[in-house]
Amino acid sequence: MSRPSTAPVWVPDPQIVLAQLASGILGYAQQTADRSAFRLPYPANLQLALDRLTLLAWHQETESPASVVELLSWAGTPFAEWPIDLPDADVDPEESLLAYGRPTAICEELGSLRGDVEGEMRENALIRAVMDRTQAAQAPASYVAFRRLLVEYPVLTALELDTRLADPELALVADQVRQAYPEAPPEAAADGVVRTCGGCRGLLLPLDDDRTWTCEDDSCSAPGTAGPIHPAAEGVRWLRRELRTFITAPGRAELRIAQVVADMGVAVELWPDFDACDLSVFAERPWVADVKAWRNPTRLGRALRARMFSVPAHADRAYVVVGQEQVRAQQRYIERLRRACPAVRPGQRVVAVSEKQFVEAVRRRVENES
Ligand SMILES: [Zn+2]
Repeated sequence: MSRPSTAPVWVPDPQIVLAQLASGILGYAQQTADRSAFRLPYPANLQLALDRLTLLAWHQETESPASVVELLSWAGTPFAEWPIDLPDADVDPEESLLAYGRPTAICEELGSLRGDVEGEMRENALIRAVMDRTQAAQAPASYVAFRRLLVEYPVLTALELDTRLADPELALVADQVRQAYPEAPPEAAADGVVRTCGGCRGLLLPLDDDRTWTCEDDSCSAPGTAGPIHPAAEGVRWLRRELRTFITAPGRAELRIAQVVADMGVAVELWPDFDACDLSVFAERPWVADVKAWRNPTRLGRALRARMFSVPAHADRAYVVVGQEQVRAQQRYIERLRRACPAVRPGQRVVAVSEKQFVEAVRRRVENES
């Protein structure tokens, strides 16, 4: 994706500006969440994004944000409402970087310059530590138990967390599990309780009026359903944001697929060989899958162009599988993804399909072989 050739060289690339803005917002959210300092400078990326947006605005002869504060207020509105056009920036008009004052999953996806945020995830210190510890102990089951916990329980009370850690498989990585679940932010509690979502088991957050509660997870399949309510005094813990975006969201599809495939009587492994892939199906001539929960197919295509799924040599077939929530939320998701990344078109070594298409392909093979 390049700028229109008519743009002068001093006009910044909107894609890069948005990436800087997104990573500045993530940095700022981290600083304010730590509350370690009362007055901190804004992250350099925010200031840089402001300067570059100003240049874009000049070029488009439209208004620019007057300050970082105003820039942050833009971040909370859909891109369609911005006075500045963002051609080739791989964002949809209804998307925004902040929702209810918090970074969105879109912000998280954009926050990595080369779209290689999942690569960074693998380098994430916490995930790395879990990987090292479980590999050193030759305990793949511990690695799987850790991943499964993060997918199934984005919220835990302090007591539930202790109970889970009594399981020897998780006990091996107890320190890392505790780091993955910091205390829920104080604004999650109202009237002395913390509410959860029945759809995704995540937190419900109160809107400004303190009476409306909303599921924070924009890929939740049933955001209107109420889940358990916990007294705030029980010490509610909430999985870290980047883990919710890149582990929990695709993990829901991973667990669903594993269940359906196991019900067909087919061998299936989750995160085999310490995460060589997300799913391996069939014991003989296995099919492997990398499961994705990116909101935007063009952004996912860009990420795949930067870093393609490395297929284990013994795999018979390899798929990039997109979760049903994401496929349903975007028209022609798979078609747009294949257009953005020709390397996942039919006939290639790795083929992009929806969750439903993947399960159907497995079913066809089972029928053919029986
Ligand atoms: Zn939910």
